[in-house]
Amino acid sequence: MGKLLTFIQHQEGKVARTSLEALRGAQELATTLDHTLTAVVFGLESGPAELANIQLDEVLLVQAPELTTYSSEYFVAAMEAVLKAEIPHLLISSHTYQARDWLPRLACRVERPLVSDCVGYEHDGGLTWIRQVFQGKISAKVESSEGLVIVSFQSGAYRADELGSGSPSQRTMEVRLSAVPARVRPGDRFQEAKGAVDLSRAERIIAVGRGVGDEENLTMIKELAKTLQSELGSSRPVVDYGWLPHEHQVGSSGQTVSPRLYLALGVSGAIQHQVGMKNSDCIVAVNKDVNAPIFEVADYGIVADLLEIVPRLQKALEERNAD
Ligand SMILES: Cc1cc2nc3c(=O)[nH]c(=O)nc-3n(C[C@H](O)[C@H](O)[C@H](O)COP(=O)(O)OP(=O)(O)OC[C@H]3O[C@@H](n4cnc5c(N)ncnc54)[C@H](O)[C@@H]3O)c2cc1C
Repeated sequence: MGKLLTFIQHQEGKVARTSLEALRGAQELATTLDHTLTAVVFGLESGPAELANIQLDEVLLVQAPELTTYSSEYFVAAMEAVLKAEIPHLLISSHTYQARDWLPRLACRVERPLVSDCVGYEHDGGLTWIRQVFQGKISAKVESSEGLVIVSFQSGAYRADELGSGSPSQRTMEVRLSAVPARVRPGDRFQEAKGAVDLSRAERIIAVGRGVGDEENLTMIKELAKTLQSELGSSRPVVDYGWLPHEHQVGSSGQTVSPRLYLALGVSGAIQHQVGMKNSDCIVAVNKDVNAPIFEVADYGIVADLLEIVPRLQKALEERNAD
């Protein structure tokens, strides 16, 4: 029986949703490979609440004063120590901005391969990792060699609400990082920038495309988003026109999202947009063109003018909220 480690990214003890998604992938892998599964958490005194009832063999709390905030150099050194002590076959992580920063350094340090931004895997004797390339047009299959492989899963590749439940034990490992030179000092987290939107955590997103026609029409969509307690997403042209800031853009050059509800209004569903939203739980699309590609991924499609549908939806929601 081998060992599988999954890295849990958190912000002051609150686990990132993408880490829970990657953990679901790790659970599947651990079952497929008959491996034990350990969640590795840096810089916490006790295990995060989100992991308390999750199907895991154990939660490993890696502790050092330097691990309370993110630093690529400390994280690499700490994980190197963990890998030496635990000797796992796989290290799984979510593919976050943080992971993009430190996992390649870790891979170099321990001289093992990193297969990044995977959307799944295949197992028939050996393991093959599936990565999307050319903006999702092609799925590339990457075979991994014997020995430790580091893998990151794309946001939305697995569903956090499908996590198996259990009661993991907890273990603590102290690592000494005082000799690690701290040459890289991270600045402020980008989500904390004034007015920034973290769509990856949103439960509901209303995405607006070029079909909205005019910047003025955004007013009623913003109102609808407020009533539906949704974040506002957009396709790229809406950002290019300057109607919404880039932080709202969904897609290959924007954010990857997996909300419970994704309401696409006047979005054609180009591949570059789809790669950012197709893992949403429920996709509802409003588009005038019955042949728009968005309908290929939509669970519910409304072939209509959004300028007629949005006010009707607004009215229906207001009436329901008044009940
Ligand atoms: C390298 C690269 C990266 C890219 N990255 C991204 C990205 O991250 N995100 C992204 O979104 N795009 C990205 N794109 C652009 C992408 O190729 C598409 O051009 C873009 O997604 C189209 O946006 P859209 O659907 O809003 O506009 P359009 O393709 O113009 O579609 C508008 C849709 O609205 C419908 N419509 C029009 N009027 C109405 C109405 N009144 N009511 C209802 N429906 C209506 C039309 O039928 C049409 O389907 C990228 C492109 C490249 C080359």
